[in-house]
Amino acid sequence: MNKQPQDPPENANRVPQPIRDGAGATDPGPRDVMRDLENPDLLVPPTTDAGTVPNLKFSFSDTHMRLEPGGWSREITARELPISTTIAGVNMRLTPGGVRELHWHKQAEWAFMIVGRARITAVDQNGRNFIADVGVGDLWYFPPGIPHSIQGLAEGCEFLLVFDDGNFSDNDTFSITDCFAHTPKDVLSANFGVPESAFANIPSEQVYMFQRSAPGPLSTQKVSSPAGTVPRSFSHRMLAQQPIRTLGGTVRITDSSKFPITTISAAFVEVEPGAMRELHWHPNTDEWQYYLQGTGRMTAFASASKARTFDFRAGDVGYVPFAYGHYIQNTGDKKLIFLEVFKSSYYADVSLNQWMALTPRELVEDTLNVGPALMNALRKEKWPVVK
Ligand code: MN
Ligand code: MN
Repeated sequence: MNKQPQDPPENANRVPQPIRDGAGATDPGPRDVMRDLENPDLLVPPTTDAGTVPNLKFSFSDTHMRLEPGGWSREITARELPISTTIAGVNMRLTPGGVRELHWHKQAEWAFMIVGRARITAVDQNGRNFIADVGVGDLWYFPPGIPHSIQGLAEGCEFLLVFDDGNFSDNDTFSITDCFAHTPKDVLSANFGVPESAFANIPSEQVYMFQRSAPGPLSTQKVSSPAGTVPRSFSHRMLAQQPIRTLGGTVRITDSSKFPITTISAAFVEVEPGAMRELHWHPNTDEWQYYLQGTGRMTAFASASKARTFDFRAGDVGYVPFAYGHYIQNTGDKKLIFLEVFKSSYYADVSLNQWMALTPRELVEDTLNVGPALMNALRKEKWPVVK
């Protein structure tokens, strides 16, 4: 308690203080030093930060864990992160054999497999089915209203789910057990043409998730539909794509040009230590981020003298409103890996460097009051996305 500027330097190194160049003062009151250490740019913002910018960060570590037989789930929706109107995210684990039950919802579902493997199933409105196994780095996409399921294979799995509505909650999906539990048994009997006794033991409420043994090989669970399989695959091997390689890292972009069914686009970005995802913005929609590995920082430039810097680490979600300028800098000593996700069938970004390089030199130099060195450098580089 009562740390003062004259405290020994070893303490000053361990406990960061909100002091910068003669402004600020020590924080002698209650505080969470671990969180302050994780958020150096909140405790001592760069002097370029200014004005009131909404919160653009939420960690899955600060969410409610829904624990069920067969796994767990947790979500970041507009309830947790109010700025996130376009997208809600769910982080889910399924044990070997763990089942996320047969269900559907109004929103499109896009997913990225983080660890392990799962079997996914779906049937579309024309009776065409889709049954496939997905592994690390694979995506799936279920269109709005299309019923589906997910089951962990022998090694279990953990994945990220993205829904194209910030107010979505995975607790409010349409589940087959819920549907059965709230349909009169005589109606079930008439609908399926079997006696009511067939439904004597159905679950009395929604199950959501449950534990079974891991399913056998895909070949043992084939179901042949007279209408065939879905014409556009519901899964895509994102990490099997050849990345765009630059000196500072790699980028893989998946939108409907590579994964035709999807209405949600994404970039898988790897940034080497000391490198950064260059200054840019998106001309189509908000950006939702999920940090998979490492640490980074981002400043969001919000126009009208407003800017705010955030620190991120694995398990965090970030958000960038439409058109806000931003960069992401690797602040750690290992590779930073994150996903940029967009409620848009196509991926688009505007590079600040490219814009300036392709504008008459005099106009840029006179506007920014810079000498020729900057424009010479800009016209030599290839606007590398990650540098
Ligand atoms: Mn779903
Ligand atoms: Mn971006």
